[in-house]
Amino acid sequence: MVSEGRAENVNVTSKPRTASTNPERRVRRGLRYRTRNMLSYLNKIYSLLHMPYVVAEPCINCKHTDCVEVCPVDCFYEGPNFLAIQPDECIDCNACVPVCPVEAIYPDDELPDVWAHYTEWNEYLANQWRELGYNLTEKKDPMPDAEEWTERDKNETDILTWDV
Ligand code: SF4
Ligand code: SF4
Repeated sequence: MVSEGRAENVNVTSKPRTASTNPERRVRRGLRYRTRNMLSYLNKIYSLLHMPYVVAEPCINCKHTDCVEVCPVDCFYEGPNFLAIQPDECIDCNACVPVCPVEAIYPDDELPDVWAHYTEWNEYLANQWRELGYNLTEKKDPMPDAEEWTERDKNETDILTWDV
């Protein structure tokens, strides 16, 4: 029961918030609500399943770029002697893996332990090169000494980057 004091403060001009009696409006609202829920659910599933691909050490000084040619979302970024995949843009399609002549690309969860740190390198370098506008979308000639570097011992200190 409402006390007299409170009843005096009630704004009789404002409508109470009750469910809409317009059936069409209620259906639309319900659909909006369900769509929002469904999208957020799908987003959660996607982020759980999303396994971006990673370019690892064998790529250093290659630039055969067969990988770039097949990538449907153009998520490769180019440094002076290495390519990196931007993890948020990669759609995990696997198209680049079989075309890489030196087996440099792996899904994140299959990356050999010895190259585990390349996950971070890819994100860091791809973001840096993206900001500089070095998105690579077409195949280009390999590095002049690519063949010689195929057999060479390499590590991340051999990766060159642009001056920023
Ligand atoms: S094909 Fe492989 S090694 Fe060559 S640029 Fe692409 S990822 Fe690097
Ligand atoms: S897995 Fe697909 S989307 Fe990701 S880098 Fe390779 S080709 Fe591009």
